[in-house]
Amino acid sequence: MKKSLASCSFCGANIEEVERLVTGPEGTAICNRCIQTCHNMILTDKGKKTVAQPQPAQSEQMDFYLPSPTELKNHLDKFVIGQEAAKVALCVAVYNHYKRLYLGNSQKFSPTVEIEKSNVLFVGPTGSGKTLLAQTLARFLQVPFTIADATVLTEVGYVGEDVDSILVRLYQAADYNIQAAERGIVFIDELDKIARKSANPSITRDVSGEGVQQGLLKILEGTVSAIPPKGGRKHPEQNLVHINTRNILFVCGGAFETLDKVISKRVNSGGGMGFGAEIISKNESKLGEILSKCEPEDLISYGLLPELVGRLPVIVSLDELDEEALMNILTKPQNALVKQYAKLFAMDGIELSFSDEALNAIVKKTLEQKTGARGLRSVMEKILMPYMFEIQKHREKAVLKIDAKIVQNTLAKSKRQV
Ligand code: ADP
Repeated sequence: MKKSLASCSFCGANIEEVERLVTGPEGTAICNRCIQTCHNMILTDKGKKTVAQPQPAQSEQMDFYLPSPTELKNHLDKFVIGQEAAKVALCVAVYNHYKRLYLGNSQKFSPTVEIEKSNVLFVGPTGSGKTLLAQTLARFLQVPFTIADATVLTEVGYVGEDVDSILVRLYQAADYNIQAAERGIVFIDELDKIARKSANPSITRDVSGEGVQQGLLKILEGTVSAIPPKGGRKHPEQNLVHINTRNILFVCGGAFETLDKVISKRVNSGGGMGFGAEIISKNESKLGEILSKCEPEDLISYGLLPELVGRLPVIVSLDELDEEALMNILTKPQNALVKQYAKLFAMDGIELSFSDEALNAIVKKTLEQKTGARGLRSVMEKILMPYMFEIQKHREKAVLKIDAKIVQNTLAKSKRQV
């Protein structure tokens, strides 16, 4: 018997159930959802011979190929150096989040049990890869992603941006597709800067941060916010768009500069004492090690509202990047800075290279700046700026080798100019 409606040859959905149905020869067709699934599979398995099959848990109902936590981590490893514990925690949280989102309501898996959302908090020094981790995963999963800076947020009614502006940006990143925005990822940076400070009243600006924390709490736990579709202030005559934040994954990050002292104090004063209680010694422990002992109560002592901390159940600490890590970041990732500049010069027919001593000098200079890996780019820019400016001159020679002397001279010169 002939089917009355055209349908997808892969999942069987008919034309009325899908947004797009692309037809092929001899009555074959594929729907937009199956195209997306295939696309995700190809991206995940590029370079591999076999195509990984979705796990049994992610059966028919998923219109989205969800890579496993190890696949997610393999992808992160290409772009982010070190931070092993943070990668594992993030990959598990992201995997569980999307599993909950796609299969949480399935009749097959205890429909009465509601799985709660697991937002993530990154605690670690500036420039250690917090934003990069979240951004790399969002790109891989092809979900809308936006970065918000908590320091520019203010309580509604004060001068500045209110928390809803984050949702407007996510909606814009989703190309004004509300369903896509509702399953996106938001990275909120500098969360530590809105920690409550004991007495800090201000009538012009909510500098105490508590009002912003309250606002964030609402969107983190799940609310329906009315947002102006094109951003800006809400006008009474404007049509507002409603966005539900229940399934948006929030990843917050902050350097929490003196948090190590709060943690050491608690651990050393016997908080959670018992057999095996540890003592953190002042000189021996690395920052990352101390931060890895962070408990929700430390964040509350630091000045975050207990309710907000409660909405960030996955606390992940990042390590301070040492010399070896910075060297690896400079040279190893798929889009390492050295590779990026080599490409830029290659476009002018110049083969750019660096001696090992030059790379060491760049790393040492970056360490002095205490801005983590973020400083690598500015040091590289300083060194290569004169060559990029006079690119024509170097085109004739076709090779440019940066040695330690060039690095030292350029950096000394730029210091004198400051
Ligand atoms: P933050 O921890 O302050 O959010 P970012 O993730 O924004 O730091 O890092 C700034 C830049 O430094 C990134 O764009 C990236 O180029 C580089 N970077 C930082 N940490 C790493 C890392 N672990 N591996 C590779 N690159 C890194």
